[in-house]
Formats: sequence, structure tokens, C-alpha cells
Amino acid sequence: MKISNIRTEILKAPLKKPFITSLRRVDALEDLVVIIECDDGSLGYGEGAQTPVITGETIGSMIAAITYIKPYITGLELEEFDNILHLIHTVIIKNTTAKSALEIALYDLKAKAEKLPLYQMLGGKKTKFRTDITISMNETDKMIADSLQAVALGYDTLKIKIGDDPQKDIDRIIAIHDILDKHISLRLDANQGWTAEESVTLLHALEKRDIIAEFIEQPVSAENIEGLKYIKERVQTPLLADESVFSLKDAKRLLEMQAIDYINIKLAKTAGITQALQLAELSAEFGVKCMIGCMLEGPISVAAGVHVASAKADSITMLDLDAVALLASHPVHTDIIFNESEITLSDDTVGLGVTYTNH
Ligand SMILES: [Mg+2]
Repeated sequence: MKISNIRTEILKAPLKKPFITSLRRVDALEDLVVIIECDDGSLGYGEGAQTPVITGETIGSMIAAITYIKPYITGLELEEFDNILHLIHTVIIKNTTAKSALEIALYDLKAKAEKLPLYQMLGGKKTKFRTDITISMNETDKMIADSLQAVALGYDTLKIKIGDDPQKDIDRIIAIHDILDKHISLRLDANQGWTAEESVTLLHALEKRDIIAEFIEQPVSAENIEGLKYIKERVQTPLLADESVFSLKDAKRLLEMQAIDYINIKLAKTAGITQALQLAELSAEFGVKCMIGCMLEGPISVAAGVHVASAKADSITMLDLDAVALLASHPVHTDIIFNESEITLSDDTVGLGVTYTNH
């Protein structure tokens, strides 16, 4: 089973509503699908989202990276799996989302060759998951309305996007907290919008009102590692690192410094499945639990995240894989059931369990 070709296509999908964080606003999804073809007719599907403000990658840069890597791995036997991965990660540095898309397609092919669902090939058993849903950053009234709508759809965990203005953020969180039932859990994501001192002041103000979120995610800039530690030492609210952790090396530094409580693993940051699995294992060694998250992306790469969550279910205890639920429609057939907060993997499939029908 030899790699005979690698193709890319643009996946476009409308969103139910604009996606707004302190870093960006997106009105419709546009990302890259990677299809690896083998000489026996097998197809492996991968996907990567352009998130230039986080990974530095665009659709154009991903196509360029994949075009660059393509001649190094075309013609190789899939049995040389480890060597193919090694080449992807060493012939060009960075480009983590492009590499993730290629890795996802390769893992899809490998599991298909073994006639197993990917999660089973990776040793996973868990098939039922619950995800949170993102509440985009908006004026408070709009965020309250979106929160109530999400709860009515069955979500019990909301991820509140904040970070543009500390005082406004406090008002938003208090207003949303006060209107929701006590069993609804709040995750706060400031997307690097605060300073360390602001974070402590804000979180103390919330904690004084007995508002302790499940976690505060990446309140300070990605490179402000000392700031994360400063916050962790001063607040009760657990601290989760997102943009600060791409690689095992990033995670190891934070874990050794005891600067965080949780890590958000995203395949677009870890350059694919291999390092995501390693990151979950490393965190477990430090007794730190992980969340698996996603960019604003489509069902192929989100599916890969669900398989990884199953493979490392002891370590990955939280899911932030709502991207499919945010789409009004999409051109991907999935054997995975995405039903708002409930995601269910099928044991009656092979590989990722996705088919891209737009080509
Ligand atoms: Mg985040």
C-alpha cells in the first residue's frame, strides 16, 4: 500500500452565527482538506484550519507546506509509517496545522489498513463524550441570550469568550452566571487578553462573589509563562494553558514550573495526533488533566480529536470540540454522531469514519 498522490481541497461551510473572540471574528468556515491517495485506491482524509493569529498559518501557507513535503513521502509504503511521520516533521519546521492535516490522513489510512476505528487502533474504548459550546464575545445581552439558547439545546458546560476589556468581562461573567442554573459549568477563555495583574484582580472579584469557574483559559499572552505562574499562585480558579502550549517542550516547561492546572491539547498546535498522544501522557506523569480542543474547523479534524480523546480518556477529561455544532451545514459524511453536546464514536467503522463528498 503505497502513497501515490496527495491532494488538497478547500472546505467551506456556513456558521450558525459569527464566531468572535478577543483575537478574531469569523463569519464562515474555510479550511483545508488533505486527501492522501494510495495505489490500492484507499483514501486518507485530513483537515487543517487557518488560524493565523494563533498558529501563523493560512490556507495558502498550508498548501505551500504540504506541496513542499509531498515529494518526500510520495511513493513510500504505508508500512513505513514511523519514517513517513519523521519526514513530515523534519523536512520542514513549524507549520503545525499543515502537518496535523497530513498526520490525520495518514492515521486514517493506517486504521483503515488495520480495519479498525482509529480510536481502537490507538487503544481507546470510550465512545460517548460531552463537549462544551463556545459563547462568542459580544455585548452582555447577546451573550446571555446565546447562553440560554445553548442550555436549552442541552449543553451543561459553556465556554465564555472574554478578554477585550477587563471591566466589561467581569460584568459579562457575573450576568451570565447569575442567570443560569447552578448546575451549568462555566469555562472562561480570555485568549491572551489580560495582563497577569488584571487576571488576579478579575478572578479575585469573581471569587469574592463565589463565582469559581471550572477554569480560566489562557488569560495572558502565549509567551508570558511567568505571568501564568504568578496568576496560579494567587487565585483559586484553576488555570488552563492553551496558546502557551504547542509542543511537548512547551508543556514540560510549564508542568515543571507548576505554572498551570490544565492543558488544552489541539492537533493544530501539536502538529497532529502523535504529539497530542505524547502530551496527554506527559501531563498524566505530572498528575495534570487535559482538555482536547479545536480551532474553528470542520468535521474531519474534529473527528480526529474525538478519537484521540478516546485513546487517552484517563488523561483527557474535558472536551471542547464544539466546532461541528457551530456549523449550519457541511459537506462531510461522518459515522461519528455529532448531536450538539453529545458526541458518539461508532465501533462499526474503519479509520476516522469520515468521507469527504465534495470532490
Ligand atoms: Mg482557547
